Amino acid sequence: MTVTALGLPAMRREPPAGMPLAGPLVDTFGRVATDLRVSLTDRCNLRCTYCMPAEGLDWLPGDELLSRDELTRLLSLAVTRLGISSVRFTGGEPLLYKALEEVVAATAALRPRPEIALTTNGLGLSRRAKALAAAGLDRVNVSLDTCDPQRFTAITRRDRLSDVLDGLAAAGAAGLRPVKVNAVLDSESGLDDAVELLRYCLRFGYQLRIIEQMPLDAGHQWRRDAALRADEIFAALASHFELTADPAPRGSAPAQLWRVDGGPAAVGIIASVSHAFCSACDRTRLTADGQVRNCLFATEETDLRALLRSCADDDALEAAWRAAMWRKAAGHGINDPGFVQPERPMSAIGG
Ligand code: SAM
Ligand code: SF4
Repeated sequence: MTVTALGLPAMRREPPAGMPLAGPLVDTFGRVATDLRVSLTDRCNLRCTYCMPAEGLDWLPGDELLSRDELTRLLSLAVTRLGISSVRFTGGEPLLYKALEEVVAATAALRPRPEIALTTNGLGLSRRAKALAAAGLDRVNVSLDTCDPQRFTAITRRDRLSDVLDGLAAAGAAGLRPVKVNAVLDSESGLDDAVELLRYCLRFGYQLRIIEQMPLDAGHQWRRDAALRADEIFAALASHFELTADPAPRGSAPAQLWRVDGGPAAVGIIASVSHAFCSACDRTRLTADGQVRNCLFATEETDLRALLRSCADDDALEAAWRAAMWRKAAGHGINDPGFVQPERPMSAIGG
């Protein structure tokens, strides 16, 4: 992977030709990034087979992680200078980040106040949902790939289904609505799991979103022919529910929404691989060790941590972040013959 070195000399580097030095965070294709995904940690307490190996990974050393002050400085810069209007905290497992409530509160104090969301596996959410809502968290996505306890244990390698379900209930009770459920389907049991998950979500008023599995697993085991496609998932659901296309404009939302049995309940299918939505992408990403990534599949990162630790001023940080986004590729390239999976797995990028 290429890391753009940004020591002190680089701060004086000329910005790329044509790159605006103020205003929205744009790339050369005219896309505007307004949605920041922040990975708070690469650690996790589950071991989902499509994400992490059973033994875990070599976690980032503590001194390589952004401190809370470094993180809040970058959050402030993103909102006040780069036009970021929504921030999603993720990981690894963001609930393992002890100061999550404090970071959420600091983000909620920024002006203009961004929308604040969390993507979590839900373990421990039942104890923290209320405090997170009080700190300013607006919404939550909880990952859940099956409602079946045995299959949950097989997929996540941990017997924790009841904790996730308790977390979902607590999120709803704390007003973190709409509560969304993210599912990545198992190639064998996934179509049955999808039907049961949708029944479960309809019963409790959660919105299910099913995501095509992407080549971002640490073990590089993803195989196109094994991963379920959006059209197969749609067909499986359509044989049990009446699905009609949601008429609302989709904008930059990755999920194609379908009204279920006449609505208002809906299910989303995210065809990240089979129908990429890169042309509408509005995301920029910050890893727990302070690297800006302009795409999940980027093979190049920009080291803001080095800049922060070399006493760079906000102008230099802003210019580096803008330059990183300016170089964003047109698409993720998964379907190109020369596609190369990024070195960082999803858990260290932040999904
Ligand atoms: N641990 C938290 C969780 O699971 O929600 C947050 C981090 S996780 C990397 C974020 C999302 O990425 C989850 O919804 C997870 O299912 C999804 N994910 C992980 N690996 C994936 C893959 N290979 N393809 C598609 N989605 C993936
Ligand atoms: Fe952990 Fe989330 Fe990866 Fe599962 S998908 S192993 S919960 S980071």
